[in-house]
Amino acid sequence: MARNYMKSDKNQNFLKEDQVSLSSLFNFLNANIEPMSNPELMSLVFDYVNFIFVETERPRLIEFTELLRKYSEDFGIDSSPEALDRIKGFFEALQSQLRGKIETSMDAVERKEFGIVFEMKGKRRVFVDPSKGLFVEDFSLPKSGGDLDLETEKRLAETRLFDIIRNLNLRADRFRKCTRAKCGKFFYQATTKEKKFCSTRCVKAFIQAQYIKRKREHES
Ligand SMILES: [Zn+2]
Repeated sequence: MARNYMKSDKNQNFLKEDQVSLSSLFNFLNANIEPMSNPELMSLVFDYVNFIFVETERPRLIEFTELLRKYSEDFGIDSSPEALDRIKGFFEALQSQLRGKIETSMDAVERKEFGIVFEMKGKRRVFVDPSKGLFVEDFSLPKSGGDLDLETEKRLAETRLFDIIRNLNLRADRFRKCTRAKCGKFFYQATTKEKKFCSTRCVKAFIQAQYIKRKREHES
């Protein structure tokens, strides 16, 4: 699918859109897709669409609904297990591609090495949008026939990830993986305050585990 989208109009709405995309991206990255039921898969698609969605000239609702349909077309209440496995495989491959990008960034920071994270493919142009009086960037991906194409989708998702990073000015050294062993979820540390856990839930679980450990050591 070819998608042209505007992204240099950095007004508040724009940043908000990228914020929503970022949190949806983490939902998508941290999802355990394999055991998902139909409705869970639908909510995964919803997260994914929220991640890649960018405002176009078209009405938001129509654009969004069309995207949802595009990714959920192949499964429904009456889908065969094979169809479900296929779509899960598609999203798992996308997920691991995006996880790879974040992990490469985290790795480069940790090793103190320069690491290439993105290599853009497709056409990137900058032009003037006279209605807004702004410079606008346009990125178009090669067309693939109506079907979902994994390679095209990977490029689309990577491009969107990079745009979010750039629009929100995200730092490579603030991507984290939750240090609670049972969790390991990706998150972004928004402030300079060092964060080791993805959520207060994990902080509490960690503190409780430490407490139990100490108590046991004390008793034995
Ligand atoms: Zn966690």
